[in-house]
Amino acid sequence: MTAEIIAVGSELLGAQRLDTNSLFLAEQLQGLGIGLQRKTVVGDSEQGIAAAIGEALERADLVIVSGGLGPTADDLTREGAARALGRSLSREDRILETIERRFRDRGLRMPEINVRQAMILEGAELLANSQGSAPGQWLRAGERVLILLPGVPVELQAIFAEECRPRLEKIAPRGVILTRVLKIAGLFESQVDERAAPIYQKFHNPTTTILASPGEIQLHLTAAGAGEAEAREALNELARRLELALGDHIFSDDGRTMEEVVGAYLTVRAKTVAVAESCTGGLLAERLTRVPGSSRYFLGGIVAYSNEVKTRWLDVPAPVLETAGAVSAEAARILAESVRRHFGADFGLGITGIAGPSGATPEKPVGLVFLALAEEGRAAEVVEKRYPGGRERVRLQASQTALDMLRRRVK
Ligand code: AMP
Ligand code: MG
Repeated sequence: MTAEIIAVGSELLGAQRLDTNSLFLAEQLQGLGIGLQRKTVVGDSEQGIAAAIGEALERADLVIVSGGLGPTADDLTREGAARALGRSLSREDRILETIERRFRDRGLRMPEINVRQAMILEGAELLANSQGSAPGQWLRAGERVLILLPGVPVELQAIFAEECRPRLEKIAPRGVILTRVLKIAGLFESQVDERAAPIYQKFHNPTTTILASPGEIQLHLTAAGAGEAEAREALNELARRLELALGDHIFSDDGRTMEEVVGAYLTVRAKTVAVAESCTGGLLAERLTRVPGSSRYFLGGIVAYSNEVKTRWLDVPAPVLETAGAVSAEAARILAESVRRHFGADFGLGITGIAGPSGATPEKPVGLVFLALAEEGRAAEVVEKRYPGGRERVRLQASQTALDMLRRRVK
């Protein structure tokens, strides 16, 4: 069974308002095992709404429209739907009485324009609105179903839960849709796809999408099955093969973030970490402490931004800063080793680099970052990275690499 969502509202085409109703509806449809194939946003125009509904009904078994059921002149979903289906609109006095009563109960007189909310399409089944005045409408168009819901999120959600879900459970195929997200570090999007595409392209179920953000690539696997076990088995089958191809570049397959994964390993192994950050300015410490319970393993850190602080508090010798420079493998190594020693931690992480946009030299471009991981009794591991992108992306990628170095060490 396929579905489409149409979000009605000119404000949704502007820069101020986001269509969040379709996110709620998408989650609900997924839970019902109904495949969402398209979302449309359309402004408050009767013609536009009619066209969107007409086209969606040609493609999908189920079309859900959100918004445009209010009382004002720009609420045109009723008229648009009537035009798309070639049906009439008529006033339902029972609804009008309910709306009038809502106003009376608050000591108000119903404005004349609210009569519009009692206009019902020919053949519509009414969906009671426990949170507001306009009811939703459920329409059959041949084998297809069209649902009209008000745009106010609490009203849409209540009507969906109380009125739509029970009806959809009866007509939806008994099926479930499950999603699994594989999170990957240490590879670029094209490197991930080079390894993953030959595998996931052989599968029609699950379907796979690839999403990139700084320092992290995600593979989203979505499987449909007659039951939960079948969908899960389909996910496992593909995930197993992808895990073979991507190895320990995959750091999460259960929704956890990099900092949560690192925190879990440190907790299990009862190890602690301290950080010395220059170009990330505390981002690494911030990410580590996002995780509840991080006090068990995160001891603290120093934001060593100036050369003076690097020397005075983290023992980077002035000659190192003068010859190799603050952005150097040597400086990163000393930052990591010193902070580990001073804080009495099992691990020390050091980051120094050029986040940009200024500060670059011909030998040291924006994006050049040195990262070091120190551990007692063994030589520090130092890596040199040249990240693409501007200041924010460079800093995010650097924090991700540092966490990933620690993850690989403690896992
Ligand atoms: P309407 O039913 O078009 O009168 O919408 C009433 C209010 O609900 C709007 O003013 C918005 O604040 C909100 N709204 C409408 N559509 C959406 C949507 N797709 N996502 C989130 N909020 C919405
Ligand atoms: Mg509106």
